[in-house]
Amino acid sequence: AKDDGRNRFCYFTRSMQLQAQERLKLRHDLYNALEQQQIQAYFQPIVELNTGRIIKAEALIRWRHPEKGMISPALFIPIAEESGMIKKLGDWMFYESAIRAQYWSRQLGYPFQISVNRSPAQFIADDKDSPWLDYLQQKGMSGRCIVIEITEGLLLNVSPRIKQQLDAYRQAGIQVSIDDFGTGYSSMAYLQKLQVDYLKIDQSFVREMVDNAGSRAIVEAMIVMAHKLGLKVVAEGVETLEQKRMLIASGCDYGQGYLFSPPVPPIEFERLLHIKSRL
Ligand code: C2E
Ligand code: CA
Ligand code: CA
Ligand code: CA
Repeated sequence: AKDDGRNRFCYFTRSMQLQAQERLKLRHDLYNALEQQQIQAYFQPIVELNTGRIIKAEALIRWRHPEKGMISPALFIPIAEESGMIKKLGDWMFYESAIRAQYWSRQLGYPFQISVNRSPAQFIADDKDSPWLDYLQQKGMSGRCIVIEITEGLLLNVSPRIKQQLDAYRQAGIQVSIDDFGTGYSSMAYLQKLQVDYLKIDQSFVREMVDNAGSRAIVEAMIVMAHKLGLKVVAEGVETLEQKRMLIASGCDYGQGYLFSPPVPPIEFERLLHIKSRL
C-alpha cells in the first residue's frame, strides 16, 4: 500500500511537470499571438428576455493557436494575468469593442452597448493612467456604448485606486456590471457601496434552477434585490426554453446563452443585427 502511494505521487508530479511545461509554452506563444493576428474578439448577444431583441453584446477573447487550434480563455487568461500580458490583450479587446460599439450604434441609430471583461490585474496595471479613457477621448467616442464587467471578487476589497478608476469610467459614461454573481463571497451590500448598473447571474444557477427549487429561490431573490437596488439583471448560460421561461417569470431583464447564440465573429454578429457589414 505504501508503494502504491509513492507511485501515485510520482505520477502526480510528472503530470504536474508536463502541465508546467505546457503552461510555459503557452505563455511563450502568447507573447507573439497578438502581433501574429491569432487573437480575435468574438461577440455574444445579450437579449431582452421579453421581446427576444438583441440589445447588447459581450466581447469574448479568442486565441487561434497555429498548432493547437482554438484555446479557451479559461485556460490562457490566467496565464496572461500572471505574466502581465493581460494588459496588452485587454487593451486590444477594449479598442476592438469600442470601434464595433461605435459603428453598430451608428448603424442601428441608438447606443448599442458592448460589455468588456476587465480582470483585477488590469486595474492594478492601470494604476496611474487610464488608456481606455484616453482612447475614447482620442477617437471622440462616448463611453455610453461600453459596459465593464468586473468579477464579484473585486468587490471584496475595493481599494481606493480601484474605486478611483471605476469612478473615472462612470464619469465617462461607462457602466459597470458584476460578473458571475453568486459564486464568490461578496454580498448585496457591496453592490450598494459601489455604483453598479448590471448584475450577471452566474450560469451555474441558471443551469440548476429548473430542477432545484433552492437554486430557483436564490435566483428569484437575487433578481428582486438587484431591482430594489436599481440594477438590471442578466442571466448567463441560458441554454433551454424552460430556463428562459422561468427567468422571465422571475422578472429577469436580459439573457445570454447558447439558446440565443454562441459568441460569434463580428461579421456574423452583424448578420444577427441585420446591419450592413463594414468589412
Ligand atoms: P465569462 O466572462 O463568465 O464569460 C461567459 C462564458 O460563458 C464565455 O466563455 C461564453 O462563451 C460562455 N457561454 C456563453 N453562453 C453559454 C451557454 O449557454 N452555456 C455555456 N456552458 N457557456 C456559455 P469563454 O468565452 O470561454 O470565456 C471564459 C472566461 O474567460 C470568461 O468568462 C471571462 O472570465 C474570461 N474572458 C474571456 N474574454 C476575456 C477578455 O477579453 N478579458 C478578460 N479579462 N477575460 C476574458
Ligand atoms: Ca463576463
Ligand atoms: Ca460570467
Ligand atoms: Ca466566469
